[in-house]
Amino acid sequence: MSLKLVKAPGEIANLFPNGAEFSCYEDSFQKTASLEAMMARDSKERFLLLAAKENAGEFAFFEGETRSGNGIFAKRAPLTEKNAASLRKVFAWTAPVPVLNKKCSFGCGDRLGLATAAHAELFKKYDAFPVFAQQSIRELTLTKRTYRSVIDDATFLVFQAGYTGGYGADGDHLKSFEHIDMALEVGVTMLTLDLSDQLHPAFADCCGSKVEEAYDALPEELRKDMEKTYLASPVQLKSSRIVFSKEELMRCVLIYTDAMNFAAKVGERLVSHGAGKVDLEISIDETSAPTLPEHHFFVANELKRRNVVFASLAPRFIGEFQKGIDYIGDLKEFRRQFGQHVEIADYFGTYKVSVHSGSDKFSAFPIIGELTGGHFHLKTAGTSWLEAVEAISFADPKLFREIYTKAFAALPAALKLYHITADFSVLPKEETLSDDQLPELLKCVPGRQLLHITYGAMLGEDPAMHDKIYRALFVHEKEYEKQLEEHFEKHISLLGIPLKKA
Ligand SMILES: [Zn+2]
Repeated sequence: MSLKLVKAPGEIANLFPNGAEFSCYEDSFQKTASLEAMMARDSKERFLLLAAKENAGEFAFFEGETRSGNGIFAKRAPLTEKNAASLRKVFAWTAPVPVLNKKCSFGCGDRLGLATAAHAELFKKYDAFPVFAQQSIRELTLTKRTYRSVIDDATFLVFQAGYTGGYGADGDHLKSFEHIDMALEVGVTMLTLDLSDQLHPAFADCCGSKVEEAYDALPEELRKDMEKTYLASPVQLKSSRIVFSKEELMRCVLIYTDAMNFAAKVGERLVSHGAGKVDLEISIDETSAPTLPEHHFFVANELKRRNVVFASLAPRFIGEFQKGIDYIGDLKEFRRQFGQHVEIADYFGTYKVSVHSGSDKFSAFPIIGELTGGHFHLKTAGTSWLEAVEAISFADPKLFREIYTKAFAALPAALKLYHITADFSVLPKEETLSDDQLPELLKCVPGRQLLHITYGAMLGEDPAMHDKIYRALFVHEKEYEKQLEEHFEKHISLLGIPLKKA
C-alpha cells in the first residue's frame, strides 16, 4: 500500500496557520542540495510543501504561499501548471520519457487524473514500463481536460508515489495533424496514430469485380510494384506462411494505401520533432472487421518500405474487446489468430503487438502473455474510472445512487460514441437496492458498461457532479487506491509480468 500519510515536519508546517492539519505522503519526501520537497494534504486539497535555507534557486522556481521563520523558508505550492513544470525541472524522473520501445509496456488511462499514484505503486514492483498519461481526444473532450493537464496530473502523482522508474505519455488515438501537433507541443512521448479516417474498409467485403475495377483504375506503376512485392513468393513465418492471393492483395492496396501515405507524413513529422523523442504506435483496430494476417503483414511491410519507424501496431483482433469487461468470443480461435499476429511482428523484429481496450480481458491475458513472451503493449483506458465508481459505491452510497441514475439518462448519447452490446434493461432501479447491494452493479457486464461509457456526463457536462466525485475520492483516497491496486495487480499477474529483480 502506497498511501502512507505521516505528519508533516513540524518546523515547516508550523509556519502555516493550519499547519497542524498537514500530513505528507511518506514516499514523496525528496531532497536536493538546496531544496526539501514533499506532497502534502490538509482537509481540503493536496499541495506541494517545500523548504529551503534561502528564498532563491530551486525553491524560487515554484509559486505559492511563502513563509519564513526558524531560519528556513517554506512554501505551500498549489498543483498548478507552473509548479508541475518546476517539478519536472528539479526532479527529472517526474517527466514522461519514451517507454514503448521497452519489452513490456502498459497503458493506464486515467480519466480523473487521480489514479497514477496507485498505478505507480505496482510498477515499482513489476517489470514493465507504464504509460501513466494516456488520453484520447474523445476522452479529453468528454472530460474537458487537456494534454497539458493530463501530463501535469501524472507528474504530481509520480512525485507523490516517489516512482522514479520512468513513465510514458501517450497522445492516444490521434487522427489529424492538428491533434498530433497539440500533443507534441506539450511533450507526449508516445503517439498512437489512429488510421481509421484514412482507411477504406468497404473494400474488405465488396464483391471481387468491384475490387478489380477500383484496382485497375490505380496507376500501373503502383500495381506492378505491389504485385512484384507481394505475389512473387510466400512469406515464411515461424509456424505459418503468409500467401497473398491476387484478390487479397488488391483489397489491401485499396484499403490501406492512403493510410500508409498519411502514416509516412506523420513519421516525417516525428523525425523533424526529434528522432527518438516520441514513440509511434500504429492503430488499425478501430474497424468492424478483424485484421487478417495478410493485412497486418501488408501494413507493417508498407510502413517499412516508407521508412516509418514505429514501436507497436494494434490490429483489430478476432472476437470482441468491449470496454471494461472480459473478452467475448472463442478463446481457441483468439489464441490461433493472436499467435499469427505475434509471428508477423516477430518476422519484422522492429515493433511489438499492441492490445487496445485491454482492460479486464482476464481470460485472454494468459494467452497474450504467453504467446508474446511478455513482449507487448497493452492499453487500458476506462477501467481506472470504473474502480473510482466502485470505491464510491461502498464509501459514499448516496453519491453512487446519483451517478447511477445520471448514467441512465446519459446512456443514449454515450451509445453513439462507444460500441457496446450489453442489455441494459436487466439493470435494477437504484431505489430497489440496499446500500450493500450497490457494489454488485460493478460486478455485472451491463452495470460496468453503463458506468464505463457515461463518464462524460459526470466529469465534463456537470460541474456540480464533477466536484462531488473529486471530493468523494479525496476523502476516500485510501479506498480508491486499494481498489486500483487490486484490480491492476490482477491484470499484471494474469499477463505473467514478472516481479522486478531485486
Ligand atoms: Zn484502439
